Amino acid sequence: MTRVFDEDLSAGFGTRAIHAGQRPEPLAGAIMTPVYLTSTYVQDALGEHKGYEYARGKNPTREAFERNVAALEGGIHGFAFASGMGCLDSIMKLFRAGDHIICAENVYGGTFRLFDRILQHFGLAFTYVDTRDAQRVADAVRPNTRAILVETPTNPLMRITDLSAVASIARKAGALFIVDNTFASPYFQRPFAFGADLVYHSTTKYLNGHSDMIGGIAVVTDDELAAKLQFIQNAAGAVPGPFDAWLALRGTKTLHLRMRQHDANGRRIAEWLVEQVGPERVYYAGLPTHPQHDLAKRQMTGFGGMISVELDTRERAAHLLGRVKVFSLAESLGGVESLISHPASMTHASVPPEIRARLGITEGLVRLSCGVEEVDDLLADLERGFDAMPRAKGASSTREAVAAD
Ligand SMILES: *Cc1c(COP(=O)(O)O)cnc(C)c1O
Repeated sequence: MTRVFDEDLSAGFGTRAIHAGQRPEPLAGAIMTPVYLTSTYVQDALGEHKGYEYARGKNPTREAFERNVAALEGGIHGFAFASGMGCLDSIMKLFRAGDHIICAENVYGGTFRLFDRILQHFGLAFTYVDTRDAQRVADAVRPNTRAILVETPTNPLMRITDLSAVASIARKAGALFIVDNTFASPYFQRPFAFGADLVYHSTTKYLNGHSDMIGGIAVVTDDELAAKLQFIQNAAGAVPGPFDAWLALRGTKTLHLRMRQHDANGRRIAEWLVEQVGPERVYYAGLPTHPQHDLAKRQMTGFGGMISVELDTRERAAHLLGRVKVFSLAESLGGVESLISHPASMTHASVPPEIRARLGITEGLVRLSCGVEEVDDLLADLERGFDAMPRAKGASSTREAVAAD
């Protein structure tokens, strides 16, 4: 089982990011973990092997990455998967028909799609709850509730869930508390410190950070839970290839540096957007005007580069999306380059329109993944995007458009 090396847990974050989980390669002493491109391992004799039998079960490159992220999260065991969704699908194999799962209503669109369109048909029951209010989570608990799953901050509306409060509800209910930590990354939020049982990521995003692979990882602290996940990882086989594991491991080495810059750029851009459209139309947990800013500050040490902005109409959203040049129009997030997207028609198109409307994912909502470029270039780009912005009905300027409703 891929357990962190004990010494990896004591160093500071940036040191762990660079070194945890890795040892010089034994043949030549290569400082970088090789890409172990192999499907199988030669055994010394019948029943005698080096701990590696077949590469679905174990691969040294993958193990280094698993240890590394487990150490960053303050966990003990890591399990890498071929995608964030493959990871979540494997996590859900911990449960069985008849089990009930409470899920935050504002989760990643693909998470909702997996539950609603596939896993529901396998006898799992889901209740979607606005987890900003922990009492609603407590009220949704049933005798057969086996898990509570949240994402905080949420995508794209940056809603915050009180991790400690939900952890204690889960503990009382005997349910597993699962946290999708993709948005914050372990640099800014470590859910185990607040009572989570299982933390997972789309490593496609901040952990890899370079928009050049797809992957997922689950981290746990409990040995028994780890044994179950290891069994599922090997039995169901949604594993990443060694090259993707290597890319992601290279990515995590700079996680702390990138996150600091994402955060610095995110704060500046959020403040600039507030000047354009007013604080109530900018979703960023780092703004003192964010309704849950105090809670965010209690459980996060920074807020990263994800911002959403409400522009009121699809026409105005399209104006911005069509004019920016440094921000690229694309799904995904968390890479070094800045991206801009339209959640209603892109990432959240699979969420039924009536649910989108209830969640506040409107036609005028635009999501920014602020990269680590020079912030002045990003601001100039957005300036260009807001230039000659069509007016909202009945208004004479952008600002008045905001005041008008
Ligand atoms: C992207 C994403 C996922 C899905 O991960 P993939 O690697 O795309 O399969 C899950 N949760 C969140 C928050 C994400 O942003």
